[in-house]
Amino acid sequence: MESREIEVAGWRKVVHISDKASGLDAIIAVHDATLGPACGGCRVRPYATFAAALDDVTRLSRGMTYKNALGGIPFGGGKAVIIADPKTQKSPEMMRAFGRAVDSLGGLYYTAEDSGVTEHDMEIVRSVTKYVAGIANKGSGGNPSPFTARGVWRGVQAAAKARLGAASLKDARVAILGVGAVGMSLAELLHEEGARLVVADVNDAAVREAVKRFDAVAVLPDECVGADVDVFSPCALGGAINADTIGRLRATIVAGAANNQLATPEMDKALYDRGVLYAPDYVINAAGVISVGLEILNQWSHEELTRRIDAIGPRLAAIFERSARDRRPTGEIADEMALDVIAKAKRAA
Ligand code: NAD
Repeated sequence: MESREIEVAGWRKVVHISDKASGLDAIIAVHDATLGPACGGCRVRPYATFAAALDDVTRLSRGMTYKNALGGIPFGGGKAVIIADPKTQKSPEMMRAFGRAVDSLGGLYYTAEDSGVTEHDMEIVRSVTKYVAGIANKGSGGNPSPFTARGVWRGVQAAAKARLGAASLKDARVAILGVGAVGMSLAELLHEEGARLVVADVNDAAVREAVKRFDAVAVLPDECVGADVDVFSPCALGGAINADTIGRLRATIVAGAANNQLATPEMDKALYDRGVLYAPDYVINAAGVISVGLEILNQWSHEELTRRIDAIGPRLAAIFERSARDRRPTGEIADEMALDVIAKAKRAA
């Protein structure tokens, strides 16, 4: 196995690992480790170029620094990418080699699942390193989607209170783009609270299920952003808010599970200028990594996790308040608060 360090200004450590025997071609990026060891998932994707993989892993690892800092867990930001097609090229040998690469960092980075990686893959990684989480064990951890949905639900409640003065989501109108693992669980929670739902997905079966179970109104994916609702909840892929869609938005709240909901950083201010309250994605969707963090700390219990997920609502409320007071976009405020947590920890060290 060959390991080569790549200098990236502002990053604690970035390593390129290649292993001929297993075909592993991976990058592990540790953005910041001030709060503790870096923690973030491993993504398997057939990147077109090495530069594209490096760009993704650095961007994602920086995002994890912010997410973990505001998630209230003592971990820095890191991420790994494996350049391979998860359907045709991923193999147990490759995951074992990846595990050895993680292990060689001596605990600077903890890995877990991300897209293209299953819990079974992480079991294989665990056979060669202890620096891994996201594996169900004695009722803890495992599939984070229901947890993420609960965090988003708490976030939608906080946003509705701040923007609409609503004490509950009864009769609130919410459009969910993407009723997959998180979106469907979110729909259930919202429906139970009496919200009226609009749903869209490229998967017709998922749409039919949501219509049947939650009395939701189905629209085409392209129409979802323009639905006449109070809350637009992106729960599919990233980039739902972009130069094309922002003008069609009728909701006054954007609050959903998807990572990188804003196609470009400028969308943060653009939403603010239009009077739309945006719940920063890495704050509202942090429940999964909070669960992983508790698992690593050996502090996972359903009660503790629920308590921490429910704190996402008040955390967002604080961001909304500061945004209103300072007349600045919520994403900007969240970044500032995350950097503040890290700066305080640096001073205390
Ligand atoms: P998922 O794959 O189960 O669900 C995504 C859904 O979006 C699917 O039903 C899919 O058919 C649909 N979809 C895909 N492209 C679409 C399009 N163009 N238009 C409409 N629908 C489309 O994924 P998930 O686990 O529910 O995650 C949803 C989002 O939340 C992702 O962006 C993910 O990165 C993010 N997220 C998930 C978690 C988690 O715990 N699962 C945690 C944090 C963030």
